[in-house]
Amino acid sequence: MDISQIINELGEDREQYYNAVAPPIMQTSNFTFKKVADLSKAFEDEMGGYIYSRGLNPTVDILRKKLAALDGAEDCLVFNNGAAAIFAGIFANVKSGDHIVSVTAPYTWVQRMFDVILPRFGVTCTYINGTTIANWEKATQHNTTFYYLESPNSWDFAIQPIREVAALAKSKGITTLIDNSYCTPLYQKPLEMGIDITMQTATKYIGGHSDTLGGVLCGTHAMMKKIFDSEYLNIGSGVQPFNAWLLIRGLRTLPARIERITRSTEKVVKFMQQHPKVDTVLFPFAETFPQYELARQQMKAACGLFTFTLKAGKRESIVQFCESLQHIMMAVSWGGHESLVIPKCAGIRPGDFDPANKTHQYIRMYVGLEEAQYLIGDLEQALSRI
Ligand SMILES: *Cc1c(COP(=O)(O)O)cnc(C)c1O
Repeated sequence: MDISQIINELGEDREQYYNAVAPPIMQTSNFTFKKVADLSKAFEDEMGGYIYSRGLNPTVDILRKKLAALDGAEDCLVFNNGAAAIFAGIFANVKSGDHIVSVTAPYTWVQRMFDVILPRFGVTCTYINGTTIANWEKATQHNTTFYYLESPNSWDFAIQPIREVAALAKSKGITTLIDNSYCTPLYQKPLEMGIDITMQTATKYIGGHSDTLGGVLCGTHAMMKKIFDSEYLNIGSGVQPFNAWLLIRGLRTLPARIERITRSTEKVVKFMQQHPKVDTVLFPFAETFPQYELARQQMKAACGLFTFTLKAGKRESIVQFCESLQHIMMAVSWGGHESLVIPKCAGIRPGDFDPANKTHQYIRMYVGLEEAQYLIGDLEQALSRI
């Protein structure tokens, strides 16, 4: 289906709500029945109709249909945030005694799940450098049932050979889940490459305005139903109707925003690459990126996030640079209208900061919707202060 049709029409039935162009926010907790028999039937399959908004809700369903179609998936579940989506996607697919292979340095709260929560239930995890298929093969044990991918990673943009990892998993009956937040389905379609479940945080590009959280899982209807019937209903972390409405609104402009961000990021990255005070620039579509070829094979484009280090690698220089920015804000997250930076050292105690460790020096930038020249001007004046 055409992307414009998905975004503007799919899942919307305007005659049902006075031909309103914007969909209604169905802010209701429950749905009424006239016949006991109908209620009994509804109880048999909560994913088959509307009973209670911890399960399905009409506003949320409009969003589900659009997101599933964008990903080329049979079905989709939308959660209150990305972390909840990942938690449910993994928890529904592992049991005591199972082993997970994961890329190193996945999203913070995923790492916490693997390190702290799952071990309490007898599920273990091995982290690997996921850039080669050989590393996946080597780490796979007799009890490995789950592969966790994040491609590209949201800090160093490390990429996994998605098709090969998916094929290896299929040959061993292992379930795969990928965090596709960096690309969104516009720039990468992992289900077409054989991955079982795609995840993205809707808080970032889909919401697009830094005013709501959301998380998405896409896959087969059978997989979504499995997650819905247990974790989704039990944890109660489904997206609320108002937030779903904001996410539908965000989706309307997703392609336009991504297109602009892609163009601006290119300019900002070029500026940083040639600046004498900048050391390395990590960006998947930069020719200097170590996995440039693979990035071009798997991704349609790259945008928004890039990471750099300064030639003056001291903590004080990083602090000076970040605090000198006048327009670009310092904050976690990304995907909104506003450009952001975040220094890795903010999460490292000053005594533990190792100036010889390049990753400690990382500064990540997100390019928002401002004019590229406005951002470059701000970066230039902040660089001049160090
Ligand atoms: C933000 C983020 C998440 C978590 O999403 P929330 O909506 O914040 O819970 C997961 N993965 C990546 C790569 C992210 O940037």
